[in-house]
Amino acid sequence: MAMRDFSQDTNALSLNTATLGHNVDGHGAGWTCEQVIDACAERGYGGIVFWQREVTDPVALGLRTRAAGLRVDGLCRTPYLTGRDAGSDDAIKHAIDTAAGLGAPVVTIVTGGTDPGHKGVMESQKRLCDRLAWAVDYAATHDINLALEPLNPMFGGNRTCLFTTADALAICDAINHHRLGVAIDVYHVWWDTTLAASLASAKGRIFGFHLCDWLENTTDMLLDRGMMGDGVADVKGIRRLVENMGYSGPCEVEIFSSRHWWTRPPDEVLDIVKTRFCQVC
Ligand code: ZN
Repeated sequence: MAMRDFSQDTNALSLNTATLGHNVDGHGAGWTCEQVIDACAERGYGGIVFWQREVTDPVALGLRTRAAGLRVDGLCRTPYLTGRDAGSDDAIKHAIDTAAGLGAPVVTIVTGGTDPGHKGVMESQKRLCDRLAWAVDYAATHDINLALEPLNPMFGGNRTCLFTTADALAICDAINHHRLGVAIDVYHVWWDTTLAASLASAKGRIFGFHLCDWLENTTDMLLDRGMMGDGVADVKGIRRLVENMGYSGPCEVEIFSSRHWWTRPPDEVLDIVKTRFCQVC
């Protein structure tokens, strides 16, 4: 199957507002959501993914986004479902309610880490399944998909109990609900030489694709992501794998970069994202 040609077409390009530092207090230029929407619309982006923390009135923000000609492509993210910092059932419902208000099709899930009192991840994965079972039912009543995002193994401990695409798909198999799938993020999967084999069973279950790059000399595992083309990840190769499994949705640019991209003027960052999207993604 032929890959989509992005060289002249930015409709699939979606901005995750974390690329402008909106996911962490005290970072970025402090643009309002309205400024972000207008700047993306001017440049021909197709959509935006907001973070829960910046959404105060989801319905109004969804309307405002669509009025500018953009999609709301998703919401980041639910509270953790496992680990020391796991969120309450109500907090998880609140994230799904927010997505529904926005008119977002999908909420991303970063699972959370190892539960207190346990070692390893297997017990935590069982608890994850228990919590997902009702969360996905709740999401389904709001026509929302849930996307499990496996994280690079270095995020084990406090942030995730899913390290690989195979891990995430195994949870999807266990729950077996059409509203539960996976999000594939270049930062988290670029190293995985089993990715192609794992994705072979992912048809219809990929609900998100996240773009960035892995810098050759990463200095901060959380906040030093690279711009597409600046690192060593095979961005286009990963997109090919995802699209071979039928994925035709948005490509969400998500670059946490406290010392570089978050310090540059957002207008400049958005221009460069668009150029790189067309040239190297
Ligand atoms: Zn991601």
